[in-house]
Amino acid sequence: MTQYLMTIDGRDVSPADLFDVINPATEQPFAQAPQCNRAQLDEAMESASRAFLAWGTSELDTRRNALQAIANALTSAQYTLAELVTKEQGKPLGAAAFEVAETARWFSYFAKLPLPEETLQDDAAGHGVVVRRPLGVVAAITPWNFPLLLLGMKLAPALLAGNTIVLKPSPYTPVSTLVAGRIIAEHLPPGVLNVVSGGDELGAWMTSHPAVRKISFTGSVATGKAVAGAAAPDLKRMTLELGGNDAAIVLDDADPARVAAGIFWGAFTNNGQICAGIKRVFVPDSLHDAVVDALAQRARRVRVGDGMEDGMQIGPINNKPQFERVKGLVSDALAEGAIAAAGGKPIDRPGYFFEPTILHNVREGMRIVDEEQFGPALPVMRYGDLDEAIARANATPYGLSGSVWSSNEDRAADVAAKLDCGSAYVNTHLVVQPHLPFGGWKWSGIGIENGPWGLDAFCSLQVRYRPR
Ligand code: NAD
Repeated sequence: MTQYLMTIDGRDVSPADLFDVINPATEQPFAQAPQCNRAQLDEAMESASRAFLAWGTSELDTRRNALQAIANALTSAQYTLAELVTKEQGKPLGAAAFEVAETARWFSYFAKLPLPEETLQDDAAGHGVVVRRPLGVVAAITPWNFPLLLLGMKLAPALLAGNTIVLKPSPYTPVSTLVAGRIIAEHLPPGVLNVVSGGDELGAWMTSHPAVRKISFTGSVATGKAVAGAAAPDLKRMTLELGGNDAAIVLDDADPARVAAGIFWGAFTNNGQICAGIKRVFVPDSLHDAVVDALAQRARRVRVGDGMEDGMQIGPINNKPQFERVKGLVSDALAEGAIAAAGGKPIDRPGYFFEPTILHNVREGMRIVDEEQFGPALPVMRYGDLDEAIARANATPYGLSGSVWSSNEDRAADVAAKLDCGSAYVNTHLVVQPHLPFGGWKWSGIGIENGPWGLDAFCSLQVRYRPR
């Protein structure tokens, strides 16, 4: 089994201990990743602190060139990285290759984004400008669903602003990050990017480490709350991108077959393991059966299998606890009267495979509706009155995104404007782009990633003022 190394201060660092990385399509370990200990984390933090002295005041063009070089290097390594993503995450190889390409695109986008110095006042009284200064050492912590794309969304703006980084991937998907991190670090001075791996306790050590000035975290709500608690005593800055329970509302003028295609992939892309995927569908009584049928037909047709095999559209669930969780949510719903129009149980083969599942006869109060399922099971609910559907869509502690599906875009846009969430879509879902601000309302997060707003999240604003 290949053993992967950490990157600290520009060097490959061997661990004292290793842990197995499981391929979710086979349930077999295929690689080993380092278990970073406290001394090694301290070394990474010291290295990042030292590197900040020069990187934080480097020429902007130096940083822009580094970001573009990183984008090019990731593109060159696209298929090597994609294979690692598929083996540890489970998604089909084509989707993994797309993830690598998107990660590179994020670096290219930020390579060109202005880091403006703005004149705010220039009159008889005085001259004032605002400049953006980096924060210092960033602790970047990522989950297992999009290991590379999510690191790109953090690293690219953090580096452009002049911060240095200690990055930790999920223990379920460390390998692609360790390899991509090595590639990225080659285009940066030693210590600007350090990559460590280990279990959840390593994340907790990072968020309470005195060297860290900013935590950029993507993961679950429960962990996000622990991170916020750890940040508080030292008033570390933080961006939290957390879970979602996105609603899709179908209007009574929609064409069921057309909307089913968009809703299906809005929910089942990445096997439903997407923070901003559709997790609840509201359908008017008049269209209920037709929409459920159209979704169920798609769920039955979709090709589920090992992501390394040609032609697969959906892979396994990433890990055993998540597999057990999805299984439990679906079986609880069925026990409480839900009907599976498609799927409803694990697929009888090795690997964490679960049938793409469409549930109806579901209601609020069932866990599959109230909680974030983060897997291949979609509840479809009836509504009578549109205002009632909007109220139910908003009646959740989450607020990541939502969508409205209709033959009349203007009518749908009016409804979408009433959704309480960070992104509101018409006839689409899951539009995450480098230039569009992405962030959650309520428990779905604090702060914004992407675009100039995401860059500002890695800066302190400094006003420079002198009287005339
Ligand atoms: P998780 O919260 O269990 O873990 C995320 C990361 O945090 C991992 O690297 C983990 O090791 C680390 N961690 C665990 N405990 C920690 C602690 N006490 N302190 C610091 N770090 C700690 O989440 P997960 O199961 O890996 O990912 C799934 C969740 O992520 C879902 O809820 C999903 O909605 C969310 N997510 C959100 C976004 C977004 O942008 N909003 C994107 C992707 C995933």
